[in-house]
Amino acid sequence: MLLRHTPKEITERSALVINPAKTCQPIGAMYASLGINGCLPHSHGSQGCCAYHRSTLTRHYKEPIVAATSSFTEGASVFGGQANLLQAIENIFTVYEPEIIAVHTTCLSETIGDDLKQIAIKADKEGKIPAGKYVIGAPTPSYVGSHVTGFSNMVKAMAGLAESSGKKNGKVNIIPGWVEPSDMRELKRLAELIGVDYTLFPDTSGVLDGPLSGEYTMFPKGGTTVQALKESGDSIGTLALGEWCSADAARQLDAKCKVPCSVLDMPFGLKATDRFIDALRIVAGTTVPDEVTYERGQLVDLISDMHQYFYHKRVALVGDPDQLISMVEFLVSIDMCPVHVVTGTPGKKFEKRIKALTKDMPFEVKVKAKGDMFLLHQWIKNEPVDLLIGNTYCKYIARDEDLPLVRWGFPILDRQGHQYFPTVGYKGGLRLLEKILSALLDRKDRDDPERSFELVM
Ligand code: SF4
Repeated sequence: MLLRHTPKEITERSALVINPAKTCQPIGAMYASLGINGCLPHSHGSQGCCAYHRSTLTRHYKEPIVAATSSFTEGASVFGGQANLLQAIENIFTVYEPEIIAVHTTCLSETIGDDLKQIAIKADKEGKIPAGKYVIGAPTPSYVGSHVTGFSNMVKAMAGLAESSGKKNGKVNIIPGWVEPSDMRELKRLAELIGVDYTLFPDTSGVLDGPLSGEYTMFPKGGTTVQALKESGDSIGTLALGEWCSADAARQLDAKCKVPCSVLDMPFGLKATDRFIDALRIVAGTTVPDEVTYERGQLVDLISDMHQYFYHKRVALVGDPDQLISMVEFLVSIDMCPVHVVTGTPGKKFEKRIKALTKDMPFEVKVKAKGDMFLLHQWIKNEPVDLLIGNTYCKYIARDEDLPLVRWGFPILDRQGHQYFPTVGYKGGLRLLEKILSALLDRKDRDDPERSFELVM
């Protein structure tokens, strides 16, 4: 038992996190930056932070993550990192020629108080930013929030590039939130099927799910172009998927360029996907095409066929707020019971939302924002579950408690597929249910006594 020191008895804790259910703000900012075409993410801090953030993303996406760093040493730590960043901007544009540099801070540069906006203006005045190239910046102190906050802050910085010409271009901005490259590809497919002219940002499809071609490309073809980001201020509306990941950017676009926004849940599962498809349909002023209706029918068919195995199964979940809200709604809609729900990201609104979604369940839900996996493990010890859903770190709890585990969320370090197979939309719902069913039925096959061991399920 690797977690044998986790006691069943729960003691009140306020200033100690054990086995966090979150990671650094800059990791989210770095991932979002990779969704801009021709972008080099830049970590304004010491080399160690940047190396950690790059390696975490590399391990999850199984692609080399490129990022630069201000390489703070003792001098920068005392006097501030302005000189390092000015030098870095000049070097990066000269040597690597990106279209844009997306700078995020770290704990150290935030504590010093470096002002990214002021440094970028100075770099521009000193001619360090070539004509037609850009530097954007997001504050990402890791001692507040989580990787989700960092992602949101960088998406907000992208929205800061938007300009308003005074003439609408008929496009719709879709802000997907922190989902996999495969999910971003799926969202675009659905928008195209419905006939929506869209700008999706950020867009890591074509960046972090590329083929092995035998040639290394520092800036892959994918990603939202800077031009599209600038034109997002002329869009007729914005669909922001997820309150935690995408809403701030959408509201900023509304305030700055008068682009009205709707904040929706991430389209995981039947109901959230229905709402997303309906929003696209209304924006496009069209009807839902047969192909999408057909996919919905397939998901409903699978739910009906396999309902007996889902019914009243108790589930523990850990992950990020936007993903968990939709997943909990999905599980409740198929008569499963999410009984323990933890996110490492702060936000009392999250707890209220989960309580509201589970109010009619036969079991009471325990939910915690700014919680940790230690607490989740203790809850499971006190009130056992049939299934665990979460990232790779859950495997320690799954092993100790002998639980089936569905890997979903960030980071997934020990399995493949998340980059290639979407879990958003109706097709993504099929994939989610396939994973859940396989975990439950494999366990049933393992545990059933010989007299009830079934060939057909
Ligand atoms: S918590 Fe702060 S210091 Fe540590 S790796 Fe993250 S950004 Fe760097």
